[in-house]
Amino acid sequence: GQCVLVCPTGALGERDETERVIDYLNDPEVITVFQFAPALRVGFGEEFGLPSGTNVEGQIIAALRRLRADIVLDTNFAADVVIMEEGTELLRRLSEARRPTFTSCCPAWINFAEEHYPDILPLLSSTKSPQQVLGTIAKTYLPERMGIDPARIRVISLMPCTAKKDEAVRPQFIHDGVPEVDVVLTTREFARLLKREGIDLRALAPSAFDNPYMSEYSGAGAIFGTTGGVMEAAVRTMFYVVNGRELETIELQQLRGFEGVRTAQVELGGAIGSVRVAMCHGLKPTRQIVEAVRAGTAEFDFIEVMACPGGCVDGGGTLRSKKTYLRDALKRRETLFGIDRTRKARQSHNNAQVQALYRDYLEHPYSEKAHHLLHTYYTDRKVQMVRTVSQIWDEITMST
Ligand code: SF4
Repeated sequence: GQCVLVCPTGALGERDETERVIDYLNDPEVITVFQFAPALRVGFGEEFGLPSGTNVEGQIIAALRRLRADIVLDTNFAADVVIMEEGTELLRRLSEARRPTFTSCCPAWINFAEEHYPDILPLLSSTKSPQQVLGTIAKTYLPERMGIDPARIRVISLMPCTAKKDEAVRPQFIHDGVPEVDVVLTTREFARLLKREGIDLRALAPSAFDNPYMSEYSGAGAIFGTTGGVMEAAVRTMFYVVNGRELETIELQQLRGFEGVRTAQVELGGAIGSVRVAMCHGLKPTRQIVEAVRAGTAEFDFIEVMACPGGCVDGGGTLRSKKTYLRDALKRRETLFGIDRTRKARQSHNNAQVQALYRDYLEHPYSEKAHHLLHTYYTDRKVQMVRTVSQIWDEITMST
């Protein structure tokens, strides 16, 4: 029956991911948990003809409610959790004079490092990406709080990114056959799903998050979607951890340029002092900085990498126009900075739901439990490839 509804052309072949989402929505046994990325809310409106950079967070929530989603959460919440873990991890590494540390929230960057530069994998932060952090907490902490059976939960991500699909099926993120994130829809696929269900985003009255555990976010979580945002969010929290007080100037203009590679000196104070940071976006600038680190010609403490030029606001799952690329990316970015300014909490550690998560469940950032749930590892896939080929060769030569 379902197939007749969603495949009017009767096309055979693999069911696309939007159909899996519709199946979950229709299954009374399944509790659907949706999350959407920081960048999605500033790029998604364009799929429905709204000007680039329109913030449609409220309309996305309304659309999900119209689809009868059970629980709507925000990846921004998980971005705040990532900062708690990654910031703590980074301060620890700095105190051990281990440098640099690379960010790990962009799966296309992770693939690139595993396949081309496996020697630098120990330098990557072990903190999972916001998508995977949210999926993990949504299947552990959330059901415990809400008194529901975790086996009934399916986590569905809406992402501006095609690499997030690949990330969700990494073996590291599947435990006894249960994935942390069940389905990932790109911006384009989500738009197709809404159109197929007859939902026009522009006609919806904005709705608000209502989950008391995992939907609040700080301004720092919001800016994750643009180049330099993860760095700025991390600095806000690390400064507080080191000094016990907030940064006076919250908006760090020195991190907000748009060049492919940007560097800055940031004063963290206390025992840490001054740190040298770099931010790069796009694979060419990334290669440039990785080569410099490997050659020993660049000394950094912390390096943010986003594979897409501009960061997730211009991710591979969103509408893109070559002609207006820069203008659109900058408008989406400005909207993210605007969201940051309107948030009650501007720093991840001041997100009340994040504070509750640590108080009631994880104990503290980088605790044993947090480490078990929210950190991961990377594999040298270059060497594995070579081994596989030589193993195959051995088999062939031995059997003849
Ligand atoms: Fe995905 Fe691009 Fe963002 Fe990386 S920068 S997480 S590839 S959208």
